[in-house]
Amino acid sequence: MNSRTQGGHYFCHICDNFGVKLWRTRNTDKLQLLCKGCAEKYENVDPVNMNSKGAHKGEFGKTNRIGDRLVPALPANEEVSEFYSWDSAPKATKNWWEKLRNTPKG
Ligand SMILES: [Zn+2]
Repeated sequence: MNSRTQGGHYFCHICDNFGVKLWRTRNTDKLQLLCKGCAEKYENVDPVNMNSKGAHKGEFGKTNRIGDRLVPALPANEEVSEFYSWDSAPKATKNWWEKLRNTPKG
């Protein structure tokens, strides 16, 4: 899996950014995929100062979630309609996500 094969489906539902890390709502019935900037607005949090792997210091320690509701979007199929939780995801999928840029600018 790479960002190119997911390119058709793995994009921010608000601003259409692709080729970047995305976060998703935990309830996939009302799935929203959000890039970092849109995720911060969605959760009404200040810009998150994250490292290149998408991790940052949260209220309860190191995390790659944004706010209370958004978790890393780790696709479990080509259609990007099903997702792994962080703990259930294959290492390759986590590595793929961590290597995506945080924002279009890096
Ligand atoms: Zn966006």
